[in-house]
Amino acid sequence: MKVELKGLDALETAQWAESLGLEPYRGGQIRKWLFKRLARSFDEMTDLPLSLRKTLADRAPLNHLETAKVLSSRDGTKKFLFRLHDGPGIESVLIPEKDHFTLCISSQAGCAMGCRFCLTAKQGLKRNLSPGEIVDQVLEVKRSMERPERLTNIVLMGMGEPLANYEAVVRALRNLVADDGLNFSHRKVTLSTSGLVPAMERLGRDLEVNLAVSLNAADDDTRSMLMPVNRKYPLGDLMAACRRYPLPHRKMITFEYVLIGGVNDSAEDARKTAALLSGIRAKVNLIPFNPHPGSTMAPPSEHRVLAFQEVLLERNITAIIRKSKGRDIAAACGQLSGTQDPAAG
Ligand code: SAH
Ligand code: SF4
Repeated sequence: MKVELKGLDALETAQWAESLGLEPYRGGQIRKWLFKRLARSFDEMTDLPLSLRKTLADRAPLNHLETAKVLSSRDGTKKFLFRLHDGPGIESVLIPEKDHFTLCISSQAGCAMGCRFCLTAKQGLKRNLSPGEIVDQVLEVKRSMERPERLTNIVLMGMGEPLANYEAVVRALRNLVADDGLNFSHRKVTLSTSGLVPAMERLGRDLEVNLAVSLNAADDDTRSMLMPVNRKYPLGDLMAACRRYPLPHRKMITFEYVLIGGVNDSAEDARKTAALLSGIRAKVNLIPFNPHPGSTMAPPSEHRVLAFQEVLLERNITAIIRKSKGRDIAAACGQLSGTQDPAAG
């Protein structure tokens, strides 16, 4: 059976090596090439005997993502469009911060969740990404960077609902944070979900990464209108799951709230949001709606955004306004389509 090495952990890789009659340490050697030296093929693994490289390439073909296009924004944000081997496109967005870079990666090609404000939703779900395809976004972007060590933060906020592709996402994240993998700090890896409650509970048990929850409304009617997932897991269930979520020392849950003009941006909405969050170690990211071709919704006025933030701050809730970067190349939240042309996106 062919295996995808970038989805295995250290132990599984060693066991796999053993199953081929190799010394277990070969597993560690291969992982070093894959994750530390960013090798694309077994041919590059020059400390493995040539005949072995051939066997490995046959048993565990190493794929990498084809970079179809890179768009650069005036603000330094870069959007990578990758082509999967069977056709669909996915996107990753590299965002420069003061002293480091954050990479926003995709977990699915498209998304089945159907949120009304999100462009990715329009294409529906094309397919889940494999663990290797999730990790490969990070590897490809690192390969393109002059100083790859400056990429320190990963957010799963690109295309797709990560918790709807649970197994693959967890496998990928394990290799992102493993010492002998890509070695990201688990404090700098954030998974964002639209609120799949049972999978959130599982995640809390399985992995220690940051959790972000897309809240987007503070009452069930509005939230169900914007996010159909709310009909299955309404706010009561979602907030209860957040209250139970195991948060290590000093960690907080991030709540994302896309502010849409006239829909969910009133002072009353802000007060209800504050009430929902009471008793939760929470911080709120307010994201003014990013329009996309064909969207009927409107961004909020500057005044409403500030007023919303003020209500939260008055109640001692950390609330940050996220001016989305990369809007000129359709790389901002909710603008990812997996197609090349930003105007078509
Ligand atoms: N599926 C996951 C992660 C990807 S979406 C989730 O929904 O959480 C990442 C973030 O982009 C979410 O918080 C979502 O609410 C936000 N978003 C989607 N469309 C947007 C838009 N048009 N403008 C601003 N933010 C948007
Ligand atoms: Fe999917 Fe997230 Fe977009 Fe909703 S906001 S459709 S869950 S990617």
